[in-house]
Amino acid sequence: MDLESILFTQGFGARRQCRAIIADARVAVNGALCTDPDAPFDTDALTFEVDGVAWRYHEHAYILLNKPAGYECSREPQHHLSVFGLLPAQLATRGVQCVGRLDQDTTGLLLLSDDGKFVHTYTSPKRKVPKVYLATTKHPLDDAQLAALRDGVLLHGESKPIAAVAAHARDERLLELTVLEGKYHQVKRMVAAVGNRCEALHRERVGGLALPASLEPGKWQWLDEADLQALR
Ligand code: URA
Repeated sequence: MDLESILFTQGFGARRQCRAIIADARVAVNGALCTDPDAPFDTDALTFEVDGVAWRYHEHAYILLNKPAGYECSREPQHHLSVFGLLPAQLATRGVQCVGRLDQDTTGLLLLSDDGKFVHTYTSPKRKVPKVYLATTKHPLDDAQLAALRDGVLLHGESKPIAAVAAHARDERLLELTVLEGKYHQVKRMVAAVGNRCEALHRERVGGLALPASLEPGKWQWLDEADLQALR
């Protein structure tokens, strides 16, 4: 692929801007400065630098963000900051979208991608990917609440009860809840439906992919092939 197309596909702006970045001697490929926008490179495991910042070529972006509280999963947030502000501008330019949404006050594992098929697959209700949440509850959890969550609760506007795949108390007021759906405020509404209240919510896992303990709130990382396999 020519260098202009590499920068263009990786989100460095319009083709004209990419040509200018290259002509201004701001790009090094595999360690060597390159000022020719038409120079061809093998994109397999390609690394390049723009203004001294290292990048690796990715045909598609698959990103995991440890979402902090106070961020909306929207490009045009209404009342809070946008999760997109936590990512480099290049990722937003290449059209990265959230794979399902978390509420502004929910923390934890958020996936983002510019691969429309991937986004569709993992947001489709048909896919039934297990999602593990930790909910801090206002009141102590009891066996009746846990049983009701596992048996299924009827949420307002739904025609059928929704059952958690698993519900257990990790602590007196710490609920681990696994659900297959991704309905609006689903966990908060399920907890409310059994007579409790969700005071904080954290997503710990999606499919076989867990939020890495080393990834601090507000930080992101690329998903590698093993991570994508774990999701399937
Ligand atoms: N359920 C909720 O209530 N909120 C979230 O952000 C995710 C799941």
